[in-house]
Amino acid sequence: MTEEREILEVDVLFVGGGVSCLSGAIHLANLIEAHDKKVQEQGQGEPLGEVMIAVLEKGPFVGAQAMSGAVMDPSALKELVPDYLDKGAPLEAEVSQEEVCLLTRTGRIKAPFTPPPLNNHGNYVVSLSKLTEWLGQMAEERGINIFPGFAGVEILFEDGAVAGVRTGDKGIGPDGEKKPNFEPGIDLKAKVTVFGEGPRGSLTKDLIKKLNLAEGRNPQSYVVGVKEVWEVPEGRFKAGRVVHTMGYPHRSDTYGGGFIYGMSNNQVAVGLLTGLDYRDPFLDPHREFQKFKLHPFVAEILKDGKMAQYGAKTVPVGGYFAMPKLVFDGGLLVGDSAGLFVSQKIKGLHTAMKSGLLAAETVLEALLKQDFSEAQLSRYQTALLEGPVGRELHKVRNFHQAFQKGLWSALVTAGFQYILGGKILRDRLPAETDFSHLAKVGQVYGTASPSPEQKGDIKFDGQRTFDKETDVYYSGTTHEEKQPPHLKILDLQVCYTVCAESFQNPCLRFCPANVYEMEADDKTGQKSMKLNFSNCLHCKTCDVKDPFENINWVPPEGGGGPKYTKM
Ligand code: SF4
Repeated sequence: MTEEREILEVDVLFVGGGVSCLSGAIHLANLIEAHDKKVQEQGQGEPLGEVMIAVLEKGPFVGAQAMSGAVMDPSALKELVPDYLDKGAPLEAEVSQEEVCLLTRTGRIKAPFTPPPLNNHGNYVVSLSKLTEWLGQMAEERGINIFPGFAGVEILFEDGAVAGVRTGDKGIGPDGEKKPNFEPGIDLKAKVTVFGEGPRGSLTKDLIKKLNLAEGRNPQSYVVGVKEVWEVPEGRFKAGRVVHTMGYPHRSDTYGGGFIYGMSNNQVAVGLLTGLDYRDPFLDPHREFQKFKLHPFVAEILKDGKMAQYGAKTVPVGGYFAMPKLVFDGGLLVGDSAGLFVSQKIKGLHTAMKSGLLAAETVLEALLKQDFSEAQLSRYQTALLEGPVGRELHKVRNFHQAFQKGLWSALVTAGFQYILGGKILRDRLPAETDFSHLAKVGQVYGTASPSPEQKGDIKFDGQRTFDKETDVYYSGTTHEEKQPPHLKILDLQVCYTVCAESFQNPCLRFCPANVYEMEADDKTGQKSMKLNFSNCLHCKTCDVKDPFENINWVPPEGGGGPKYTKM
């Protein structure tokens, strides 16, 4: 029997309550108001009147699942809210000191100058969760309807065009049965739907596949960022100080690096990015991050401090050539869903926000013409690619691909590419999917391969280093326990056979929240996969890195997941 569902019709639907969608929604409300005022004053044209704009957010509140480093270029924020300082934007500190260094196992070589792409003059250290929450409040004040705690689970199509999304049912038990509190999801129908779900959004993934939006593009590549916010003794690390590191604990064939950003109130954001195109099946990004904190340089900063919050998230780093087609009948892609992160600058907030602003301008024109076709919406893609965002991404278009030859050759190539404005490596360098880079255990460790446990090279002391369970506790993550797991393992036999034999189940290591656990039966020794899904940080690493594409991340019941307030 088909479920009776409530249908809610809106004009414009933004899927995802992150900075790209919120910027887009606020800007659209401003543009509509300005248009109607002009019509009224000049007596020409048609007012748009009441336009219903909605934002769907799967987290329990706006900002709860927003996480980034982060150092923000404020250009797009300034365009959206010119008086953002007077309006109390929650900026931690203006960048006042910056350094780049290479870490060896115990030492540090400081670069004599900051490479131009990492020059942060005029930028701000921010907590993305705080900034997002602030934009959410502003959106509500502008009359935008925000639906927190509702996850989009299915794209609605009408006559081949995107027509909105269906939200997930609530109150489904672990075996799929309806519980007494069952509530069917709502069909949110819209004239135009803007997808800004963040990295590896589940609806965006479906959309890209269904509409072939990635045809002729490089596959998207990702890094996973594992981060903690620490409270450190007064005067230890100045607010506005920004440190980027290369080298230890990563080997030269692993893409990524560390960061330490001084926040307000003696807080420090410390994190490690690990490229998910890594080869070593025993690599554990969370463990590498713990090792990073034990490096003498980092350890000295954190000494006598206290960890306050933990989180993890993927970031799309494939760049210009991995951006999918961004428009289609009835909708468009913005922010990380569009792959707008500028890897060389380690920044994506300004491009995400700018994409929201451009989306709003295109949607305004579409509303005026009542034309939501791909042809009409394609103005967005043109404006994005031909404007500052496209130019910035094009200039460093082969940055990530160059790293697949190792750190040193990439630094030289990428440096020249930046300096020469992209005049070398003009043509697209190819890229492979991240998971395809994973080598088998035997290829890396030979026949006498250590077990992952034997390879464990640090102990967690609960003071400076933490196991995954403890860290997850500090992310505020909770889920309704009585629901089906939202990590869909397509074929468990793959886990027990080829994946165990070739890779010793890398999900046990690449997940930064210990969601995947292999349990052995006391009597038979037979192993079975246990899913601690309520730990899930929604980082999407498993969806990206599983070597058999055997894990599909789908949204859990709305409202579940991390509850970040400082990330
Ligand atoms: Fe990330 Fe997947 Fe682990 Fe969830 S289960 S924390 S999405 S790797």
